[in-house]
Amino acid sequence: MKISKSDYYRNEFDIEYRPPAALQLGVGLGLVEYIPYQIRDSFVSLLSLLRPKSSSAPKRRTFPIDDLSDRLDPSTEEKREFWQKDFGVIMTHDVDTQEGYEFGLSQFVEMERAEDMVSTYNLVPSSSEYKLDTDLVASLLKDGFDIGMHGLHHDGRFAFLSEEEQRARIISAARHARELSIPSVGYRAPWLHRTKQMIRYLTEASFDWDSSFPDTDDSTIGYASTGSRTIFPFYPLYKEGDSWKYSPVIEIPVSMPQDWTLLYYYKLSEESMLRVWKKKMEYIKSQGGLATFILHPDQEDFGHPKHHKAYRTLLKIIKEADPELMTCSDLARRWKKKFPPRD
Ligand SMILES: [Zn+2]
Repeated sequence: MKISKSDYYRNEFDIEYRPPAALQLGVGLGLVEYIPYQIRDSFVSLLSLLRPKSSSAPKRRTFPIDDLSDRLDPSTEEKREFWQKDFGVIMTHDVDTQEGYEFGLSQFVEMERAEDMVSTYNLVPSSSEYKLDTDLVASLLKDGFDIGMHGLHHDGRFAFLSEEEQRARIISAARHARELSIPSVGYRAPWLHRTKQMIRYLTEASFDWDSSFPDTDDSTIGYASTGSRTIFPFYPLYKEGDSWKYSPVIEIPVSMPQDWTLLYYYKLSEESMLRVWKKKMEYIKSQGGLATFILHPDQEDFGHPKHHKAYRTLLKIIKEADPELMTCSDLARRWKKKFPPRD
């Protein structure tokens, strides 16, 4: 199979992931499980200080907008026609911490209900922070919310594991999803730490969707200046033997800057964050694409009550833009119907 230019960039074939050595050291010492947020936030703040000096480093992606894969792809026009409105929006939440699980999640649910919206909650099935309550999962599903698997553990180790261990974790995450009777099995890589084999294992584990590739990412440690350069869902490639194949796992790119990126890397005020989100959403609307958000219900991020007012404002901004609002599972189901996976 000849790989097109758009597939080349969408699948990040030009990029080697470099999860940082310091993180690996922390993982080796067993530190990361206990201090991931302190590491993350201080690293990210440090990166933002170094930013002006590192501007001579080659920029592989532009931020906050990079949709080169779409511009290279002759089928983009057809994808724009997918929506019943001008564009799509998916709100997702990665639940990383105990506080996020116990407090932030229900408050997000309440604020979304008030706006008559549903979202996708990505939960860690085997977390050192919280124990998944099957009743909570069932009641969220009953109310139309969507559940994805946020890895198996959230310990920062995935990208450093052997291929067999990576595979075992993904297979186990899928098993957890099926035990919880989640109708559509989806995945979000912890910390968006992708590896070159990840799609193959998600395919083997029969996930319906994945949402681990940003369109353009300026700041994730070890993954800065990466991204799939698309604001449309796509079928990612994986290697079987010597040949590349399209996976039936639909990839839903994270096309909106994350809350923590804007809070810790860019150190923006809430007002500026809302402006950035609005502007990018308007761009995606003009292109007929999909705006996929990640906001964390954790206390370090938008789950903190001090940010709730801004979150309510964001929900209002989204509704005013009049998109087709969906969850990851709805999107996966409908996209596969309209654009069946290729062999
Ligand atoms: Zn996470």
